[in-house]
Amino acid sequence: MSAVAEAQDTVGVPFTRLDAADPERLDELLEVVAGVARRSAFTLGAEVEAFEHEFAAYCEAAEAIGVSSGTDALILALRALGVGPGHEVVVPANSFIATAEAVVLVGATPRFADVDPETQLVTAATIAEALSERTRCIVPVHLYGRMVELDPILSLAREHGAFVVEDACQAHGARYHGRRAGAIGHLGCFSFYPAKNLGAWGDGGAVVTSDPALADHVRLLRSHGERRRYHHEICGTTARLDALQAAVLRVKLRHLDADTARRRAAAARLSAALAGSPLALPRPTEEDSDHVFHLYVVRCAQRDALREHLARRSIATALHYPVPIHRTPAFAHLGVGPGALPVSERLAGELCSLPLFPGMDDQAIARVAGAVWEATGGSAPWPA
Ligand SMILES: *Cc1c(COP(=O)(O)O)cnc(C)c1O
Repeated sequence: MSAVAEAQDTVGVPFTRLDAADPERLDELLEVVAGVARRSAFTLGAEVEAFEHEFAAYCEAAEAIGVSSGTDALILALRALGVGPGHEVVVPANSFIATAEAVVLVGATPRFADVDPETQLVTAATIAEALSERTRCIVPVHLYGRMVELDPILSLAREHGAFVVEDACQAHGARYHGRRAGAIGHLGCFSFYPAKNLGAWGDGGAVVTSDPALADHVRLLRSHGERRRYHHEICGTTARLDALQAAVLRVKLRHLDADTARRRAAAARLSAALAGSPLALPRPTEEDSDHVFHLYVVRCAQRDALREHLARRSIATALHYPVPIHRTPAFAHLGVGPGALPVSERLAGELCSLPLFPGMDDQAIARVAGAVWEATGGSAPWPA
C-alpha cells in the first residue's frame, strides 16, 4: 500500500465493521468454534437446538428453525404454506433480490408492490394495487431495519385469504407496536449473512413462527423430510443451519441488543450532525416501534456526485438497491416495463447508504457529516 493510500485509510470511514475489529469478541468466538470442531458435531444437534430456543425466545415466538440462509428461509416458508405454481406472491420492488427469487424458486409468480417515498417500504395501499385473485401470500420486507406498518397489511391479507411472511432479514430485534420482527406474520424469515445485524461466520438463516404445524413442516423441509434417519415423509432439501454457525450465533445473540443500542446511538448522532442539510434523513419511528438501523439510508437528488465526493474522502458508501427488482435482467421475463413502479424506480437513483456500525465513534460520525456538508454546501443545487 502506498504512503498516500495508507494516510487516506487512517482518516477514512469503512462501511461496516466485522468481528476481526473486536479482539475480545474474536477470542470468545474462536473458543466456541474450537469446541464444535473438537466434538466433531457439525450437523444439527445440541448447538443448533440451543440456538433455536434462544433465538425463538429473543423474537418472542414459539419456535425458530435454523436454516442455511435467509434465501432458504424464504423458500422453506413459502413451501410450508403450500405456495407454488399458479399462485402469486406480492413482494416489494425495492428490496434485495432474494425476496423475489424465493417466489420464483417455489414455482410461483412475484407481483411487485411500489414503496412509500419517505420510508422506502411497502404499505397496505401499494400492496392493494398488486393483489389479484391468484394472490396466495404477501411478503413485506422490514428494509434497512425499519418495520413495515403491518396491521393494515394483516387485515388486507385476511380479507383476501392470503398468508403473510415477514422478510426480517435486515430487522433482527426490531419492534412494531411492541412486537418483535418476524413473530407477527404467519412466518418470519431471517438471514445471518456476516454483515447482517446478527451475522454468522458464513451463511445462515432462520424461520420463526408460533404455529406448531408450520414449524414442523419447515423442520421436515430443511432436512430431506426426515424425522428419523432415512424415513422420508416428504421431499425436502439440504438447508440446515451448521452447528459451527449456531455456536457463533449463540455468542453474538448475547451481544445483539447492546450492538443494536450502539447502532441506534450512532444513527441519532449522525442524524443530529446532518440536520438541516439537503439530504432526506431516516424518519423517526413511532414510540412503540424500534428501527434497528441495519443501514442508514439517505435520499439525495445528486446521489452519484455525493458518493464520488465521499469516496474522495475515503468514506465508503453503498446502494440498497441500485436497480429495482422488476428492472433486473433476472425478472425481465415478467415484462414489468419502466414506469410501472415509479417510486421504486426513482428511489433507485436517489438512495445512498452511509457508513453505520456499532463501534462507530464520534470522530467517524464527524468525518461522514463533514464530508456530506462539504459536498452539499457547494455551489451546485442540492434539492432534497
Ligand atoms: C440478506 C437478505 C436476504 C437473503 O439472505 P441470505 O442469507 O443472503 O440468503 C433476503 N432478504 C433481504 C431483505 C435481505 O437483506
